[in-house]
Amino acid sequence: MPEFETRLLIGGEQVEGGGQGLTVENPYTEETLTTVALPSPAQVDAAITAAREAARGWAATPAVERGEMLHEVARLLRDHTDALARVMTLEGGKPLVENSDEVGWTAAAFDYYAEIGRNSAGRVIPPIESTQLSLVLKEPIGVVGCIVPWNYPLLLLAWKLAPALAAGNTTVCKPSELTPLSTLMLAPFFGHLAAGVVNLIAGAGDVGEAIVRDERVDCLAFTGSVETGKKVAMACAERVARVNLEMGGKDPFIVCADVADAIDVAAKGGAWAAFLNAGQVCTSAERFYVMDQVYDDYVREFVHYTQSLVVGDPLDPGTDVGPMVSARQRDKVAAQIDAAVASGAEVVTGGNGSQDRGHFFTPAVVTGAAAETDLLREETFGPVAPIVPVRSLDEAIELANATRYGLGCNVYTRDLKTVVRLMREIKAGTVWFNDPLTDNDAGPFGGMKQSGLGRELGEEGLEAFQETKHVHIETEVAAKEWWYPYGG
Ligand code: NAD
Repeated sequence: MPEFETRLLIGGEQVEGGGQGLTVENPYTEETLTTVALPSPAQVDAAITAAREAARGWAATPAVERGEMLHEVARLLRDHTDALARVMTLEGGKPLVENSDEVGWTAAAFDYYAEIGRNSAGRVIPPIESTQLSLVLKEPIGVVGCIVPWNYPLLLLAWKLAPALAAGNTTVCKPSELTPLSTLMLAPFFGHLAAGVVNLIAGAGDVGEAIVRDERVDCLAFTGSVETGKKVAMACAERVARVNLEMGGKDPFIVCADVADAIDVAAKGGAWAAFLNAGQVCTSAERFYVMDQVYDDYVREFVHYTQSLVVGDPLDPGTDVGPMVSARQRDKVAAQIDAAVASGAEVVTGGNGSQDRGHFFTPAVVTGAAAETDLLREETFGPVAPIVPVRSLDEAIELANATRYGLGCNVYTRDLKTVVRLMREIKAGTVWFNDPLTDNDAGPFGGMKQSGLGRELGEEGLEAFQETKHVHIETEVAAKEWWYPYGG
């Protein structure tokens, strides 16, 4: 068997692509792992046709049977954790332990939607007359296109695919061009579903665009950058297709003075939230607002902890932080820091190019950055923690809300009044207190402002893939007195 799966899944068959070759790079060694033959335009068309043809049968499959099949997907994922995590590490550069965790979370999403999908086909509402019955039906939308980025290739796919399938939709899925291999490995895990229910095709933006523009795709679920998300939204608006968008962030991290006795914990939590997956998490902490009274202690603890992190081979179990996914991403981060330094910021520790190979960026702590620099306004998506002192909670809230993003926010405090105030005043889809970045399958995830539209996870994440129908049934066939003629 070849080391990597490069075949696409179209209409239940694993087939070689008929288009151009896509080379997949190992970001640690900078060597080519393999080449994936991309789908030809006819194969993209065939994947959408297959999903369309499978839609009626899958929608008619009882929800309890769909649930059992999704549990089986979860079981197969867990059984193949090691193999999946290895390939995810080779193509994405995230440390092995983080990829093993990701496979577990991916399986959990299938289990969660296997269950709640059985429980939400609509509701009975009070009718207008006692001879009537009124229902609200929650139906599948049809064919869902799932387009995902490279940072959590399986998890972000599962947050779309599991609820879309649980709700009775069929799918065409496209991973990022940087990380197609782990997704293509999933094909056999859907072997017990009817052909065409899940289609997996690789490709870059042109393949994504072909899915987005196809009239037969009823709903688009997209995770990626704001810039691409806007293009997807515009193309969907043109044909009024349903769309769910999970986009970028610039998450603030607020540290209050009342945690002075646990400042090391708040510093470790902050460093983890900033450097997890080399800062390439949509909810990475990218701006730290720390109360004056604890600022010096916080920076000292943060820097000390950051310098203890092991940067290196992502397959090595001792590694904390691996390489970034690509030279392009790393150069973007370096340019953002350089611009901040040019306007007065100081890099206290870390920075560019610490290893002789691989797209490494050593976790960096920056102080003194000016509020109007991109480092404090635009997404960084790299292992950089700019720390800023603030004089009051009012100032922290104002700065936290002062970007075009609204994905997440972290806070360290034990004061209940502060908790209640911040949970109301912070404009973000998730606010975490004293436990950075913890996801909960039952808790909706998504962004306000330009970070997104709609929610994944939770009941909202199922509803994103359901169409609502009101059914009004009169059990008596009789003329109504309010019909014509009005004149009596
Ligand atoms: P990207 O926008 O470049 O690409 C995302 C996906 O869209 C890829 O599969 C890409 O091939 C595809 N694509 C590109 N152009 C397209 C087009 N015109 N039409 C349709 N599809 C197209 O993003 P990326 O660099 O892969 O990922 C990083 C971004 O993702 C960051 O901005 C990050 O914040 C965001 N992200 C958001 C979340 C979230 O849940 N909010 C989670 C993870 C990542």
